[in-house]
Amino acid sequence: MKKLEQEKDLNKKLADIVRYAYRHAPAFRAKMDRAGVKPSAIKTVKDLDKIPITSQSEMILLQKENPPFGGFLTIPIEKVERIFVSPGPLYEPIRIGDFAKAAKEALSVFGLGKGDRVINSFSYHMVPAGLWVDQALRLLGVTVIPAGVGMTDLQVKILKDLKVTGYVGTPSFLMTLIKRAEEMGFQFRKDFSLRCALCSAEILPPTMRRAFEEDYGIKVADTYGSAILGILGYECEERSGFHFPKGLLIELVDPMTGNSLGPGEIGEVVVTLFDKTYPLIRFATGDLSSFTDQPCPCGRKSYRLTRIIGRVGDAVKVRGMFIHYKQVEEVIQRFPGISRFQIQVSRSGYRDEWMIRMELKEGIDQEGLLQALERGIQESCRLRPDKIEFVSQGTIEEGAKKIVDQRTWG
Ligand SMILES: [Zn+2]
Repeated sequence: MKKLEQEKDLNKKLADIVRYAYRHAPAFRAKMDRAGVKPSAIKTVKDLDKIPITSQSEMILLQKENPPFGGFLTIPIEKVERIFVSPGPLYEPIRIGDFAKAAKEALSVFGLGKGDRVINSFSYHMVPAGLWVDQALRLLGVTVIPAGVGMTDLQVKILKDLKVTGYVGTPSFLMTLIKRAEEMGFQFRKDFSLRCALCSAEILPPTMRRAFEEDYGIKVADTYGSAILGILGYECEERSGFHFPKGLLIELVDPMTGNSLGPGEIGEVVVTLFDKTYPLIRFATGDLSSFTDQPCPCGRKSYRLTRIIGRVGDAVKVRGMFIHYKQVEEVIQRFPGISRFQIQVSRSGYRDEWMIRMELKEGIDQEGLLQALERGIQESCRLRPDKIEFVSQGTIEEGAKKIVDQRTWG
């Protein structure tokens, strides 16, 4: 489909779901009424900013007030296929089929198909992840081994006996399986047939990825997803970020204003699903990221999330830019002389100022370090700190706040 047609298609889908949800989901209708927005005002994706955002904590509250689905279910409950239970508890009347499509798109990166046997180590109960992946693998013609979580020794045996070619699950469990196999006296590369792994639900550290690929010959693709919304991004062979899957609408949104942001701007990942039975329209993930609209060398036309920066609560806005604790931490970790650090934000006149206090081990050349830190942090945060202060070890208390915001707004 050409880009223009895709846009038209998305505009129509958005207008449709908003109209439908307004008519059939009382909770969505109440939100729109409170915001003073009529469904007829939503014609294209440019109108997204008018639609109020729903957060996970708000959903938990709404479900408590109006059990079990908070007024979002649009069909009679006897027609619901399955109800999943996320921490909260949050009840989700989710149809596996819609979500399996995104998982299938992510898994097709490996060229998996008939003849492949894939072990699925995601949980098959309470949460939907196991069944999403299961159905996606079946759609690709793959034979699935629904292993679920745990039982390491048995899973190692399964990997070997059934000549399993693919793995889906957390990277840490895959490493546990490999190490256990080695303890049992096997040579992983020689004795096993595993050639690819789709990782999710955890950070995939670069060192672990290198070990999978170089030491064990396993191709790895990382994904970004949510327990409620499914896979929201997947790596292609270029590893240039997380491609948006087809069939859902992803925005980056300023958490303060709810306005949709452009490429390169840091904001919260907000998702609209087009499932009419349980319409999640502008559902906020709580994750901070940014996206790029630049074409990817792999040829896929979709936009990409560049990287997940962290959670909204661990960030602070300074002179209109998000500063996230993790962005600073990534830079500081390169310098072994620094133990703890703390970000402080204050206001001087009408200008925000931010400084970082760092505990420095004794006997380290401060001058050279300061310059390297300033450069690194400016690159990572795209905003130069007004001050970096070195303090002696023990100055920042254990468990101290990561970010201290001293600004007062009055
Ligand atoms: Zn790509």
